[in-house]
Amino acid sequence: MAQMNGQGKAGHRVEPAASDSTDVEAGGMTDEAWQAIIGNDASYDGIFFYAVKTTGIFCRPSCKSRVPNQTNVRIFRNARQALEAQFRPCKRCKPDGLRLPDEEWVAQIEQWIEGHYGETLTLGKVAELFHGSPYHLHRTFKRVKGITLAEHIQQTRIGQAMTELRTTARSIMDIAIAVGIPNAAHFATVFQKKTGLTPTQYRERADRAINESDGGMRHESH
Ligand SMILES: [Zn+2]
Repeated sequence: MAQMNGQGKAGHRVEPAASDSTDVEAGGMTDEAWQAIIGNDASYDGIFFYAVKTTGIFCRPSCKSRVPNQTNVRIFRNARQALEAQFRPCKRCKPDGLRLPDEEWVAQIEQWIEGHYGETLTLGKVAELFHGSPYHLHRTFKRVKGITLAEHIQQTRIGQAMTELRTTARSIMDIAIAVGIPNAAHFATVFQKKTGLTPTQYRERADRAINESDGGMRHESH
């Protein structure tokens, strides 16, 4: 986690002087900016914006969202720069009055899930990370996608498990853990509900189909 080095002296303003412009353009972070972020300090609003690389969101310093990991934060002088760097405005604090359409918010979350389905995910955790209330996230996701976030996460996990079963020799337990369902019995139940087959049956079917079609071996690809 971020280390407090106790140098966040209030009273020393962030000066966008030419000497530090390279640092800021590179996403540099001053201790003062960091203190403003963790303190939700509205007196820095308009002076800079901060973006979080893992979620693709950028915020005003005063945003009441969860404090990000400092190493994932980039600082921008204005909202336009953050947009140009492919960050999207936070739904909660609406930096520069920018509104994020629901479809983009949901797309942002879907993209994040692609890289995090192996973790323990809850509606509350995802909502917090993407700066909305669990209730609002649940409703918005369902309206945009036609399925709930929980269903989407499960589909993603089972889809990935199917790929792993077909294309790797990993054990079913390893695959269950990798896709974020670290209980073998529960994994098998969910898998069967989605596919109609147990993980073992699915793997056998895939092997048989491949053997019948080209006599090929399972590819140990990554
Ligand atoms: Zn925000």
